[in-house]
Amino acid sequence: MTRQKIAAGNWKMNKDLNDAVKMVRFLINQDRPKNILTVLGVPFPFLQTCIKETRGSADIIIAAQNCHHKENGAFTGEVSVTMLKSIGVSHVIVGHSERREYFFETDEMVGNKVRILLNHSMIPIFCCGEPLKVRKEGSHGSYVKHQVSKALYSLNEEEIAKVIIAYEPIWAIGTGETASPEQAQEMHHSIRTHLRDKYGKVSDEISILYGGSVNPGNAKELFRQADVDGGLIGGASLQEKGFLSILHSF
Ligand code: PEP
Repeated sequence: MTRQKIAAGNWKMNKDLNDAVKMVRFLINQDRPKNILTVLGVPFPFLQTCIKETRGSADIIIAAQNCHHKENGAFTGEVSVTMLKSIGVSHVIVGHSERREYFFETDEMVGNKVRILLNHSMIPIFCCGEPLKVRKEGSHGSYVKHQVSKALYSLNEEEIAKVIIAYEPIWAIGTGETASPEQAQEMHHSIRTHLRDKYGKVSDEISILYGGSVNPGNAKELFRQADVDGGLIGGASLQEKGFLSILHSF
């Protein structure tokens, strides 16, 4: 894998099927910047339809927002990696802070998801990031390093190169409060340095996205930072024109 510029939307539990198709068709029909990968994290029920809509648009990828941390079994209502693979999903968001907080996902569970996805030749979009209390205490660097190493450091060099990392400080998600470009760059650099210490040069191939209230007004400055390879965007990815404008912010 080579390092890519990526704008990834995370629709969370929003939109109905009509709105989803409308948004995908809107993006397909617009001029999009070359060499930017657009990823849309859509709800499970819309995956197959959205994948069909994007056939022929190689720069738009439809991602799932989650998967289960076991291969299969008696887990009523859950969705496995192989189920996703069988309908053509290639990318899956794992370890989003909302999953960690509301569904009690641990680093171990997130690590299992990453492992299963890679075993099935799929791409994890691995989320990490600290809560406000940790940021205020000044221990955000070690907190995020711990999350990264717990979930990812059983991977080998070839595997880690396939992972997309999203740094999302929890205090900036959905709050309208964005990390400053300097704060984002500092953490992205720290994550990349940590990866370099463990894996060497392959760390330069890994895309690290910033997430946390990215919008059309702040995207350019954030994406200009040396270690920020794009964004994972929640609220602003729901608006057609706003998200398109973010795509043009690289
Ligand atoms: C997210 O959900 O990953 C996110 C970053 O949300 P928002 O852009 O709304 O802060």
